[in-house]
Amino acid sequence: MVDYKVPEDGEPIRFENGKWITPNKPIILYIEGDGIGPEITQSAIKVVNKAVEKAYGSSREIKWVEVYAGDKALQITGDRFPKETQDMLLKYRVVLKGPLTTPIGGGWRSINVSIRLMLDLYANIRPVKYIQGLESPLKHPEKVDLIIFRENTDDLYRGIEWPADSPEAKKIREFLKKEFNIELEDDTGIGIKPMSKYKTQRIARMAIRYAIENKRRKVTIMHKGNVMKYTEGAFREWAYEVALKEFRDYIVTEDEVNKAGGKVPEGKIVVNDRIADNMFQQIITRPDEYDIILAPNVNGDYISDAAGALIGDIGLLGGANIGDTGGMFEAIHGTAPKYAGKDVANPTGIIKGAEMMLRFMGWIEAADLIDKALMTAMEQKKVTQDIARFLGVKALKTSEFTQALIDIIDTLK
Ligand code: NAP
Repeated sequence: MVDYKVPEDGEPIRFENGKWITPNKPIILYIEGDGIGPEITQSAIKVVNKAVEKAYGSSREIKWVEVYAGDKALQITGDRFPKETQDMLLKYRVVLKGPLTTPIGGGWRSINVSIRLMLDLYANIRPVKYIQGLESPLKHPEKVDLIIFRENTDDLYRGIEWPADSPEAKKIREFLKKEFNIELEDDTGIGIKPMSKYKTQRIARMAIRYAIENKRRKVTIMHKGNVMKYTEGAFREWAYEVALKEFRDYIVTEDEVNKAGGKVPEGKIVVNDRIADNMFQQIITRPDEYDIILAPNVNGDYISDAAGALIGDIGLLGGANIGDTGGMFEAIHGTAPKYAGKDVANPTGIIKGAEMMLRFMGWIEAADLIDKALMTAMEQKKVTQDIARFLGVKALKTSEFTQALIDIIDTLK
């Protein structure tokens, strides 16, 4: 049994119509995580606190509250994901999370997945921006600045599927034959690809709103609607519908731009769409043509990793899982157990996750400071061992790298 205490002068972040209402002293939860989690999470908290202080002086401050999950929770409470932690998550709804061990093939249920379901975090968001100095496979990696909004709850990954020799698959094959005269081979496995208007439109709304609030220039709907017309094709249609009905004053479609001679009106966000397979080659050959990518679950999964590879090191990426009433922010890498407790892990991934959190909170100035500090550190070759070994420079410890970022933020305007 844990009895969590929250600072009296803190307040929860509230959510109204999908918008975040952030008080000046928001209570934000954090889970340290397993393996290297504690070191990198503490590093991110220090960097965020510095950026907030620099951007807003004493007028704003995050009130962090630690909640336990994973190994630490097991030690303290005997349970990896105690009820009290779940209650706190349901109440405060925003969490910075270190990586957690997930057993392969059995064991306990993934806590990451549990949190996602509990808070209905339906969008998986991954910013991919090149950091000068990294070794990338591209000639012009500096042109990579993408944010992928991947739908997280629909599509083939709903897991509605049956093996070829199961009675269920047989029943469905018979049904298709009887009702629609569709004949499948007797050894056909069946998977169902559900895609709904509701789920498509809520993530489209989130991506476009994010583009407006963060002054991005384009939202590209990624789909394979030429082949899968009533799922991926519908995704495209439903997303355009949200753009045109709900954000008419902010957006312009690519068709409209072309008809008007190719010039994008000042301050407008272009909404366009591209066929998925085409995009895989274009994000490599012309990455600057893409900005925000709005993708259904399966496409989003593939393009997230492909995009990550463009910057040369997916270990440096952060990510977010967001719903209409909450968010979980993290690094995309795991617990890297061999580096645990050694003060050598790179905290950049979770710092990028925390930067994303500040953007959702509307604390854009603090987020920008973190982005600049990470760029500057790389320019100055202040890096941890994972990068230092490629650059042939001296490695900083996690704690030294954290301090370097704090010092850089101090010098930024
Ligand atoms: P991993 O923890 O990401 O580590 C793989 C390798 O990547 C490390 O050995 C290290 O490589 C490098 N690395 C990752 N993060 C690093 C960092 N911050 N600083 C320096 N190097 C870093 O992947 P894994 O070994 O497959 O997974 C370990 C555990 O993490 C598993 O239980 C898995 O389920 C879990 N996991 C959790 C999450 C999450 O909570 N969101 C995500 C992914 C995995 P070098 O050997 O090259 O130095």
